[in-house]
Amino acid sequence: MSFVQGLACRECARTYPAVAAHACEHCFGPLEVAYDRQAQRRQVSRERIESGPHDMFRYADLLPVGADAPVSLGTGMTPLVRADRLAAELGLGELWIKDDTRNPTGSFKDRVVSVALTKARELGFKVAACASTGNLANSVAAHAARAGMRSVVFIPNDLEAAKVLTTAVFGGHLVAVEGNYDDVNRLCAELASERPEWAFVNVNVRPYYSEGSKTLAFEVAEQLGWRLPDHVVVPIASGSQLTKIDKGFRELVELGLVDEPAPGSVRVSGAQAEGCSPVATAFQDGTDFVKPVRPSTIAKSLAIGNPADGWYALEVVRRTGGAIGAVSDDEVIDGIRLLARTEGIFAETAGGVTIATLARLAGSGVVRNDERVVCYVTGNGLKTVEALQERIRPTATIEPTLAAVSAALGEEVLS
Ligand SMILES: *Cc1c(COP(=O)(O)O)cnc(C)c1O
Ligand SMILES: [Zn+2]
Repeated sequence: MSFVQGLACRECARTYPAVAAHACEHCFGPLEVAYDRQAQRRQVSRERIESGPHDMFRYADLLPVGADAPVSLGTGMTPLVRADRLAAELGLGELWIKDDTRNPTGSFKDRVVSVALTKARELGFKVAACASTGNLANSVAAHAARAGMRSVVFIPNDLEAAKVLTTAVFGGHLVAVEGNYDDVNRLCAELASERPEWAFVNVNVRPYYSEGSKTLAFEVAEQLGWRLPDHVVVPIASGSQLTKIDKGFRELVELGLVDEPAPGSVRVSGAQAEGCSPVATAFQDGTDFVKPVRPSTIAKSLAIGNPADGWYALEVVRRTGGAIGAVSDDEVIDGIRLLARTEGIFAETAGGVTIATLARLAGSGVVRNDERVVCYVTGNGLKTVEALQERIRPTATIEPTLAAVSAALGEEVLS
Protein backbone atom coordinates (compact mmCIF):
# COMPACT_ATOMS: atom_id res chain seq x y z
CA MET A 1 0.00 0.00 0.00
CA SER A 2 1.20 3.50 -0.71
CA PHE A 3 -0.23 6.92 0.15
CA VAL A 4 1.13 8.58 -3.00
CA GLN A 5 -1.36 10.70 -4.95
CA GLY A 6 1.00 11.75 -7.72
CA LEU A 7 3.52 14.47 -8.44
CA ALA A 8 2.99 18.19 -7.82
CA CYS A 9 4.93 21.23 -9.02
CA ARG A 10 6.75 23.00 -6.21
CA GLU A 11 6.17 26.36 -7.92
CA CYS A 12 2.69 26.38 -9.48
CA ALA A 13 1.16 23.35 -7.67
CA ARG A 14 -0.06 21.70 -10.92
CA THR A 15 -0.42 17.95 -10.42
CA TYR A 16 0.74 14.98 -12.48
CA PRO A 17 0.47 11.20 -12.21
CA ALA A 18 3.32 9.36 -10.46
CA VAL A 19 5.44 8.73 -13.58
CA ALA A 20 9.12 9.31 -14.42
CA ALA A 21 9.15 13.11 -14.68
CA HIS A 22 10.99 15.81 -12.80
CA ALA A 23 9.99 19.18 -14.27
CA CYS A 24 6.60 20.88 -14.58
CA GLU A 25 5.48 21.11 -18.22
CA HIS A 26 3.83 24.43 -17.46
CA CYS A 27 6.49 26.42 -15.54
CA PHE A 28 9.54 24.07 -15.49
CA GLY A 29 9.46 24.06 -11.69
CA PRO A 30 10.67 20.91 -9.91
CA LEU A 31 8.13 18.16 -9.24
CA GLU A 32 7.64 16.66 -5.79
CA VAL A 33 5.77 13.61 -4.57
CA ALA A 34 2.31 14.41 -3.16
CA TYR A 35 0.69 12.19 -0.52
CA ASP A 36 -2.79 11.70 0.87
CA ARG A 37 -2.07 13.38 4.21
CA GLN A 38 -5.47 12.69 5.70
CA ALA A 39 -5.18 8.97 5.08
CA GLN A 40 -1.63 9.06 6.46
CA ARG A 41 -2.84 10.89 9.57
CA ARG A 42 -5.49 8.23 10.14
CA GLN A 43 -3.28 5.21 9.57
CA VAL A 44 0.35 5.96 10.34
CA SER A 45 1.37 5.68 13.99
CA ARG A 46 4.54 5.33 16.05
CA GLU A 47 3.56 1.74 16.83
CA ARG A 48 3.09 0.88 13.17
CA ILE A 49 6.52 2.29 12.33
CA GLU A 50 8.22 0.60 15.30
CA SER A 51 6.85 -2.79 14.28
CA GLY A 52 8.35 -2.45 10.78
CA PRO A 53 11.72 -3.72 9.54
CA HIS A 54 14.90 -2.46 11.21
CA ASP A 55 15.91 -0.35 8.22
CA MET A 56 14.66 2.75 6.39
CA PHE A 57 11.64 0.89 4.95
CA ARG A 58 9.97 1.05 8.37
CA TYR A 59 8.94 4.51 7.04
CA ALA A 60 7.52 3.16 3.75
CA ASP A 61 4.15 4.83 4.54
CA LEU A 62 5.92 8.19 4.27
CA LEU A 63 7.84 7.29 1.10
CA PRO A 64 6.77 6.87 -2.56
CA VAL A 65 7.16 3.07 -2.42
CA GLY A 66 5.32 0.11 -0.97
CA ALA A 67 6.84 -1.75 1.99
CA ASP A 68 7.06 -5.08 0.18
CA ALA A 69 9.95 -6.06 -2.07
CA PRO A 70 11.93 -2.81 -1.99
CA VAL A 71 15.27 -2.71 -3.80
CA SER A 72 17.28 -2.77 -0.60
CA LEU A 73 20.67 -3.71 0.77
CA GLY A 74 19.47 -3.03 4.33
CA THR A 75 20.03 0.72 4.39
CA GLY A 76 19.12 2.92 7.31
CA MET A 77 18.60 2.83 11.07
CA THR A 78 22.24 3.84 11.32
CA PRO A 79 23.49 4.72 14.81
CA LEU A 80 22.66 8.06 16.41
CA VAL A 81 25.66 8.48 18.69
CA ARG A 82 25.79 10.78 21.72
CA ALA A 83 29.03 12.72 21.21
CA ASP A 84 30.01 14.04 24.65
CA ARG A 85 33.76 14.22 24.04
CA LEU A 86 33.31 16.14 20.80
CA ALA A 87 30.74 18.38 22.49
CA ALA A 88 33.21 19.17 25.29
CA GLU A 89 35.90 20.15 22.76
CA LEU A 90 33.49 22.49 21.01
CA GLY A 91 31.86 23.93 24.11
CA LEU A 92 28.50 22.40 23.26
CA GLY A 93 25.94 20.62 25.43
CA GLU A 94 23.75 17.84 23.98
CA LEU A 95 25.39 16.78 20.72
CA TRP A 96 24.58 13.74 18.57
CA ILE A 97 26.22 12.33 15.45
CA LYS A 98 23.99 10.59 12.88
CA ASP A 99 26.53 8.05 11.63
CA ASP A 100 25.61 7.41 8.00
CA THR A 101 29.12 6.12 7.28
CA ARG A 102 27.52 2.80 8.22
CA ASN A 103 25.22 2.27 5.24
CA PRO A 104 25.83 -0.65 2.83
CA THR A 105 27.97 1.31 0.37
CA GLY A 106 29.28 3.72 2.98
CA SER A 107 27.18 6.83 2.44
CA PHE A 108 23.72 8.32 2.84
CA LYS A 109 23.22 7.91 -0.94
CA ASP A 110 21.95 4.37 -0.27
CA ARG A 111 18.79 5.99 1.13
CA VAL A 112 17.95 7.92 -2.02
CA VAL A 113 19.03 5.18 -4.41
CA SER A 114 16.97 2.43 -2.84
CA VAL A 115 13.83 4.56 -3.12
CA ALA A 116 14.68 5.62 -6.70
CA LEU A 117 15.35 2.09 -7.92
CA THR A 118 12.36 0.60 -6.14
CA LYS A 119 10.19 3.11 -8.00
CA ALA A 120 12.13 2.69 -11.26
CA ARG A 121 11.63 -1.07 -11.19
CA GLU A 122 7.93 -0.59 -10.47
CA LEU A 123 7.72 1.72 -13.52
CA GLY A 124 9.32 -1.00 -15.65
CA PHE A 125 12.83 0.42 -16.13
CA LYS A 126 15.61 -2.10 -16.82
CA VAL A 127 18.54 0.32 -16.72
CA ALA A 128 19.64 2.54 -13.81
CA ALA A 129 21.80 5.55 -14.60
CA CYS A 130 23.20 8.60 -12.82
CA ALA A 131 25.56 11.54 -12.85
CA SER A 132 27.65 11.27 -9.71
CA THR A 133 30.29 12.96 -7.55
CA GLY A 134 31.27 9.43 -6.41
CA ASN A 135 29.06 8.06 -3.69
CA LEU A 136 25.97 8.00 -5.88
CA ALA A 137 27.86 5.99 -8.51
CA ASN A 138 28.84 3.49 -5.85
CA SER A 139 25.30 3.14 -4.56
CA VAL A 140 23.57 2.96 -7.96
CA ALA A 141 25.97 0.24 -9.17
CA ALA A 142 25.39 -1.82 -6.01
CA HIS A 143 21.60 -1.46 -5.94
CA ALA A 144 21.29 -2.16 -9.67
CA ALA A 145 23.26 -5.38 -9.15
CA ARG A 146 20.94 -6.27 -6.28
CA ALA A 147 17.85 -5.57 -8.38
CA GLY A 148 19.12 -7.38 -11.48
CA MET A 149 19.13 -4.13 -13.46
CA ARG A 150 21.87 -2.86 -15.74
CA SER A 151 23.68 0.28 -14.61
CA VAL A 152 25.29 3.10 -16.57
CA VAL A 153 27.08 5.49 -14.28
CA PHE A 154 28.86 8.74 -15.17
CA ILE A 155 31.56 10.30 -12.97
CA PRO A 156 34.18 13.05 -13.29
CA ASN A 157 37.56 11.52 -14.16
CA ASP A 158 39.39 12.86 -11.07
CA LEU A 159 37.60 10.87 -8.35
CA GLU A 160 39.24 9.07 -5.43
CA ALA A 161 40.53 5.58 -6.34
CA ALA A 162 38.34 3.81 -3.78
CA LYS A 163 35.16 5.35 -5.16
CA VAL A 164 36.04 4.22 -8.68
CA LEU A 165 36.95 0.70 -7.58
CA THR A 166 33.96 0.20 -5.29
CA THR A 167 31.67 1.22 -8.16
CA ALA A 168 33.31 -0.79 -10.94
CA VAL A 169 33.34 -3.98 -8.86
CA PHE A 170 29.57 -4.35 -9.25
CA GLY A 171 29.99 -5.01 -12.95
CA GLY A 172 27.90 -2.24 -14.49
CA HIS A 173 29.10 0.34 -16.99
CA LEU A 174 31.21 3.06 -15.40
CA VAL A 175 32.07 6.02 -17.61
CA ALA A 176 34.68 8.58 -16.47
CA VAL A 177 34.10 11.93 -18.17
CA GLU A 178 36.85 14.47 -18.76
CA GLY A 179 35.39 17.35 -16.80
CA ASN A 180 33.92 18.22 -13.41
CA TYR A 181 30.57 17.14 -11.97
CA ASP A 182 28.72 20.03 -13.59
CA ASP A 183 29.99 18.89 -17.00
CA VAL A 184 28.90 15.32 -16.21
CA ASN A 185 25.51 16.53 -15.06
CA ARG A 186 24.95 18.59 -18.20
CA LEU A 187 25.84 15.57 -20.33
CA CYS A 188 23.41 13.39 -18.37
CA ALA A 189 20.58 15.92 -18.70
CA GLU A 190 21.05 15.68 -22.49
CA LEU A 191 21.33 11.89 -22.35
CA ALA A 192 18.20 11.58 -20.23
CA SER A 193 16.05 13.13 -22.95
CA GLU A 194 17.79 11.00 -25.59
CA ARG A 195 17.32 7.80 -23.56
CA PRO A 196 13.94 7.92 -21.82
CA GLU A 197 14.21 4.15 -21.26
CA TRP A 198 16.96 4.74 -18.67
CA ALA A 199 16.06 5.63 -15.09
CA PHE A 200 18.46 8.47 -14.25
CA VAL A 201 18.11 8.45 -10.48
CA ASN A 202 18.90 12.15 -10.08
CA VAL A 203 17.25 13.34 -13.30
CA ASN A 204 13.98 11.74 -14.49
CA VAL A 205 13.23 9.90 -11.22
CA ARG A 206 14.63 12.67 -8.98
CA PRO A 207 11.28 13.37 -7.22
CA TYR A 208 11.32 9.80 -5.81
CA TYR A 209 15.08 9.75 -5.23
CA SER A 210 15.08 12.89 -3.10
CA GLU A 211 12.29 11.61 -0.84
CA GLY A 212 14.72 8.98 0.50
CA SER A 213 16.59 11.68 2.41
CA LYS A 214 13.56 12.31 4.63
CA THR A 215 14.45 9.10 6.46
CA LEU A 216 17.45 10.98 7.92
CA ALA A 217 14.94 13.14 9.79
CA PHE A 218 12.54 10.31 10.65
CA GLU A 219 15.25 8.10 12.17
CA VAL A 220 16.75 10.89 14.24
CA ALA A 221 13.33 11.75 15.71
CA GLU A 222 12.54 8.12 16.49
CA GLN A 223 16.01 7.51 17.96
CA LEU A 224 15.56 10.57 20.21
CA GLY A 225 12.36 9.01 21.57
CA TRP A 226 10.03 10.72 19.08
CA ARG A 227 11.44 14.12 19.92
CA LEU A 228 12.93 16.62 17.51
CA PRO A 229 16.38 18.14 17.77
CA ASP A 230 16.65 21.93 18.15
CA HIS A 231 19.33 22.34 15.51
CA VAL A 232 20.84 20.13 12.78
CA VAL A 233 23.98 20.62 10.70
CA VAL A 234 23.85 19.16 7.17
CA PRO A 235 26.35 19.11 4.28
CA ILE A 236 25.28 20.70 0.98
CA ALA A 237 26.15 19.47 -2.53
CA SER A 238 23.01 19.86 -4.69
CA GLY A 239 21.11 20.91 -1.55
CA SER A 240 18.54 18.13 -1.91
CA GLN A 241 19.39 16.31 1.32
CA LEU A 242 19.17 19.48 3.42
CA THR A 243 15.75 20.45 2.08
CA LYS A 244 14.42 16.92 2.58
CA ILE A 245 15.63 16.69 6.19
CA ASP A 246 13.62 19.84 6.88
CA LYS A 247 10.62 18.36 5.04
CA GLY A 248 10.94 15.13 7.04
CA PHE A 249 10.78 16.97 10.38
CA ARG A 250 7.78 19.02 9.22
CA GLU A 251 5.91 15.90 8.07
CA LEU A 252 6.40 14.29 11.48
CA VAL A 253 4.87 17.37 13.13
CA GLU A 254 2.00 17.46 10.60
CA LEU A 255 1.23 13.79 11.19
CA GLY A 256 1.30 14.20 14.96
CA LEU A 257 4.15 11.69 15.35
CA VAL A 258 6.24 14.11 17.43
CA ASP A 259 5.43 17.08 19.60
CA GLU A 260 6.22 20.42 18.05
CA PRO A 261 9.45 21.88 19.45
CA ALA A 262 9.17 25.07 21.49
CA PRO A 263 10.18 27.83 19.00
CA GLY A 264 8.24 26.25 16.13
CA SER A 265 10.78 24.44 13.98
CA VAL A 266 14.09 22.64 13.84
CA ARG A 267 16.89 25.06 12.95
CA VAL A 268 18.77 23.80 9.89
CA SER A 269 22.35 24.88 9.17
CA GLY A 270 24.35 23.98 6.07
CA ALA A 271 28.00 23.07 5.49
CA GLN A 272 30.14 23.60 2.39
CA ALA A 273 33.83 23.57 1.49
CA GLU A 274 35.32 26.97 0.65
CA GLY A 275 36.48 25.59 -2.70
CA CYS A 276 32.85 24.98 -3.66
CA SER A 277 30.58 27.22 -1.62
CA PRO A 278 27.99 28.83 -3.88
CA VAL A 279 25.15 28.40 -1.36
CA ALA A 280 27.22 29.63 1.60
CA THR A 281 28.25 32.68 -0.46
CA ALA A 282 24.63 33.53 -1.33
CA PHE A 283 23.72 33.14 2.34
CA GLN A 284 26.52 35.44 3.50
CA ASP A 285 25.74 38.01 0.80
CA GLY A 286 22.05 37.96 1.68
CA THR A 287 21.02 37.29 -1.91
CA ASP A 288 18.56 34.80 -3.42
CA PHE A 289 20.73 34.06 -6.42
CA VAL A 290 23.11 31.09 -6.13
CA LYS A 291 25.93 32.02 -8.49
CA PRO A 292 27.58 28.93 -10.02
CA VAL A 293 31.28 28.35 -9.27
CA ARG A 294 34.05 26.10 -10.62
CA PRO A 295 34.80 23.67 -7.75
CA SER A 296 38.26 23.08 -6.31
CA THR A 297 38.25 21.14 -3.03
CA ILE A 298 39.25 17.81 -1.51
CA ALA A 299 35.57 17.36 -0.58
CA LYS A 300 34.79 15.88 -3.99
CA SER A 301 31.46 14.37 -2.97
CA LEU A 302 30.21 17.92 -2.31
CA ALA A 303 31.79 19.48 -5.40
CA ILE A 304 28.71 20.70 -7.27
CA GLY A 305 29.29 24.20 -8.59
CA ASN A 306 25.73 24.70 -9.82
CA PRO A 307 23.48 23.12 -7.17
CA ALA A 308 19.98 22.19 -8.40
CA ASP A 309 18.34 22.76 -5.01
CA GLY A 310 20.60 25.61 -3.87
CA TRP A 311 17.79 28.16 -3.76
CA TYR A 312 15.52 25.81 -1.78
CA ALA A 313 18.33 25.06 0.67
CA LEU A 314 18.79 28.81 1.26
CA GLU A 315 15.07 29.16 1.87
CA VAL A 316 15.09 26.40 4.50
CA VAL A 317 18.12 27.80 6.34
CA ARG A 318 16.71 31.34 6.40
CA ARG A 319 13.22 30.26 7.41
CA THR A 320 14.49 28.14 10.31
CA GLY A 321 17.10 30.61 11.60
CA GLY A 322 20.18 28.54 10.74
CA ALA A 323 23.36 29.57 8.94
CA ILE A 324 25.62 28.21 6.19
CA GLY A 325 29.36 27.96 6.78
CA ALA A 326 32.23 27.32 4.38
CA VAL A 327 35.49 25.78 5.59
CA SER A 328 38.96 25.41 4.10
CA ASP A 329 40.48 22.09 3.05
CA ASP A 330 42.81 22.24 6.09
CA GLU A 331 39.78 22.61 8.34
CA VAL A 332 38.18 19.63 6.56
CA ILE A 333 41.19 17.47 7.48
CA ASP A 334 41.09 18.80 11.06
CA GLY A 335 37.37 17.98 11.17
CA ILE A 336 37.95 14.39 10.05
CA ARG A 337 40.69 13.94 12.69
CA LEU A 338 38.70 15.64 15.45
CA LEU A 339 35.70 13.34 14.93
CA ALA A 340 37.92 10.26 14.70
CA ARG A 341 39.92 11.20 17.82
CA THR A 342 36.93 12.11 20.00
CA GLU A 343 34.24 9.65 18.90
CA GLY A 344 35.87 6.79 16.98
CA ILE A 345 34.05 7.58 13.74
CA PHE A 346 36.04 7.82 10.50
CA ALA A 347 34.28 10.10 8.04
CA GLU A 348 35.09 11.01 4.48
CA THR A 349 35.91 14.57 3.45
CA ALA A 350 32.21 15.54 3.38
CA GLY A 351 32.04 14.56 7.07
CA GLY A 352 35.11 16.70 7.70
CA VAL A 353 33.27 19.62 6.09
CA THR A 354 30.30 19.09 8.38
CA ILE A 355 32.31 18.73 11.60
CA ALA A 356 34.51 21.73 10.74
CA THR A 357 31.41 23.80 10.02
CA LEU A 358 29.87 22.67 13.30
CA ALA A 359 33.05 23.85 15.05
CA ARG A 360 32.85 27.24 13.31
CA LEU A 361 29.15 27.70 14.07
CA ALA A 362 29.70 26.67 17.70
CA GLY A 363 32.56 29.18 17.94
CA SER A 364 30.43 32.02 16.57
CA GLY A 365 27.44 31.19 18.78
CA VAL A 366 25.09 30.19 15.95
CA VAL A 367 24.97 26.63 17.32
CA ARG A 368 24.35 27.07 21.04
CA ASN A 369 25.22 24.95 24.06
CA ASP A 370 21.59 24.96 25.27
CA GLU A 371 20.42 23.27 22.05
CA ARG A 372 19.96 19.57 21.27
CA VAL A 373 22.19 19.38 18.18
CA VAL A 374 22.40 16.64 15.55
CA CYS A 375 25.27 16.62 13.06
CA TYR A 376 24.84 14.48 9.93
CA VAL A 377 28.00 12.56 8.99
CA THR A 378 27.15 11.21 5.58
CA GLY A 379 30.09 9.24 4.15
CA ASN A 380 32.81 6.76 5.11
CA GLY A 381 36.46 7.78 5.45
CA LEU A 382 37.77 4.62 3.80
CA LYS A 383 36.65 6.06 0.45
CA THR A 384 38.78 9.21 0.69
CA VAL A 385 42.05 8.08 2.29
CA GLU A 386 44.01 10.19 -0.26
CA ALA A 387 42.99 13.28 1.69
CA LEU A 388 44.94 12.09 4.74
CA GLN A 389 47.74 10.06 3.25
CA GLU A 390 50.39 12.79 3.37
CA ARG A 391 49.53 13.73 6.94
CA ILE A 392 48.98 10.56 8.93
CA ARG A 393 51.73 8.10 9.71
CA PRO A 394 52.34 5.32 12.24
CA THR A 395 53.66 6.68 15.55
CA ALA A 396 56.86 4.75 14.88
CA THR A 397 58.31 1.90 12.83
CA ILE A 398 60.59 -0.26 14.98
CA GLU A 399 62.55 -3.48 15.37
CA PRO A 400 60.63 -6.16 17.34
CA THR A 401 62.41 -5.57 20.67
CA LEU A 402 61.32 -4.15 24.05
CA ALA A 403 64.10 -1.60 23.95
CA ALA A 404 62.81 -0.29 20.64
CA VAL A 405 59.31 0.05 22.07
CA SER A 406 60.63 2.09 25.01
CA ALA A 407 62.71 4.27 22.75
CA ALA A 408 59.82 4.87 20.35
CA LEU A 409 56.99 5.52 22.81
CA GLY A 410 58.71 7.38 25.63
CA GLU A 411 57.80 7.76 29.28
CA GLU A 412 54.35 9.33 29.11
CA VAL A 413 52.87 6.44 27.13
CA LEU A 414 54.60 3.63 29.03
CA SER A 415 54.08 4.85 32.60
C1 LIG B 1 25.95 13.55 -2.19
C2 LIG B 1 26.49 13.75 -0.82
C3 LIG B 1 26.03 14.78 0.03
C4 LIG B 1 25.09 15.90 -0.37
O1 LIG B 1 23.98 15.58 -1.08
P1 LIG B 1 22.98 16.62 -1.77
O2 LIG B 1 21.66 16.03 -1.51
O3 LIG B 1 23.34 16.63 -3.22
O4 LIG B 1 23.17 17.98 -1.16
C5 LIG B 1 26.52 14.81 1.32
N1 LIG B 1 27.42 13.90 1.77
C6 LIG B 1 27.89 12.92 0.99
C7 LIG B 1 28.90 11.98 1.56
C8 LIG B 1 27.43 12.79 -0.32
O5 LIG B 1 27.91 11.80 -1.09
ZN1 LIG C 1 4.71 24.36 -12.39
